[in-house]
Amino acid sequence: MNAPMIPIRDAGDCRDPDRPLRERGQHEMFCGLTSILWLHRRIQDAFFLIVGSRTCAHLMQSAAGVMIFAEPRFATAILEERDLAGMADMHDELDATVARVLARRPDIRLLFLVGSCPSEVIKLDLGRAAERLDATHDGVRILNYSGSGIETAFTQGEDACLVSLVGSLPAEPAAAPRSLIVAGALADVVEDQFTRVFAAMGIEDVRYLPARRAAQMPAVGPGTVCLLAQPWLNDTARALRDRGATVLAAPYPLGADGTRAWFAAAADAFDVPAERFEAAVAPGERRAREAVAAVAGELAGKRLFAFPDSQIEIPVARFLAGELGMTLTEIGTPYLMREQMQAELAALPAGTRIVEGQDVDEQLARCRAAAPDLVLCGLGLANPLEAEGLRTKWSIELVFSPVQGFEQAGDLAELFARPLRRAARLRATGVTP
Ligand code: SF4
Repeated sequence: MNAPMIPIRDAGDCRDPDRPLRERGQHEMFCGLTSILWLHRRIQDAFFLIVGSRTCAHLMQSAAGVMIFAEPRFATAILEERDLAGMADMHDELDATVARVLARRPDIRLLFLVGSCPSEVIKLDLGRAAERLDATHDGVRILNYSGSGIETAFTQGEDACLVSLVGSLPAEPAAAPRSLIVAGALADVVEDQFTRVFAAMGIEDVRYLPARRAAQMPAVGPGTVCLLAQPWLNDTARALRDRGATVLAAPYPLGADGTRAWFAAAADAFDVPAERFEAAVAPGERRAREAVAAVAGELAGKRLFAFPDSQIEIPVARFLAGELGMTLTEIGTPYLMREQMQAELAALPAGTRIVEGQDVDEQLARCRAAAPDLVLCGLGLANPLEAEGLRTKWSIELVFSPVQGFEQAGDLAELFARPLRRAARLRATGVTP
């Protein structure tokens, strides 16, 4: 492994979660367009039209891989040089493109115009375009948001998408009984599991944002209680509060502890009796603890270093330290959204080094010096670090895989055990020292 190439900055203060080390330097992460890859799977009658460059199209095609051979529900309207030079009326061209997409795909009920770096640089007003097109096309809701890579983490693409959806949700009548919205894109299987546990607790009116179909998006109002299922929904939480909803403070449903505390927050809000809550969560919680315990022996005492990438780093670190006994050397996060992260920060081991933002050279130097057993990082850093002899886990895998809830706690632990197992097998066969 290489020696550190640059001096390591004193990071003493960042062991206090109220005073994380803040870094603002070169950072390595995908842009918000990437979130379309899981959002388009989640909302089954939505289309995402990126207004961007060939670079944006290439990113989506390479990230989506084989999916481009099926007719996907996303595409890029490419801004050509004459558009960028202001020589063409881009609104006319956009109107024609949207009309073509909708004529070809009559199943589409929700269309997002997704902004990119180029569309933002030339200040193309996609909000105005969405309003105009929404009024033009009956039976299709047309919204817009930005997925650009200008100072964002890739998961903020989902946050921006949900903010645009929140603005379009119908208003819950003032006299409506209380309802629960679970915010954050989830795999269908996880949603079904959550719905069953809520029903066992006696909470029947549970809606999901985003819903599987455009017509199933929830209403929102002063009687709405919201639980966040994903840790990157800062602006969505604010938008829900602005619509009168109450957003519960809770950890995220990762691992047995996190999932139990997440359900408990809903139980408190809906006055679920303690015995009924226990009866609803006990079977799943027992299975989760058994599945996690089966992997814990492989991870206990192993040291983890997390680069900032997806915003899931802090809840995952809480799970790995609290339920699997891993030691946290440094936990990076692209943004520290304190209000949404308070319960998670409180559950981290005392003295955990938190770093907000990134200066990748500084962070690489600290990582090499720490020589952790496992590094959680983005795709761009994983291969070079593997080549240096460090074991890595792609952070984006935690976003694409169903990892929430009791039934997935063992799978989440497995994701971290696998690289260590593979390394041990390679060592045993003499492939690596
Ligand atoms: S939105 Fe920006 S960062 Fe993302 S692919 Fe397009 S140009 Fe690149």
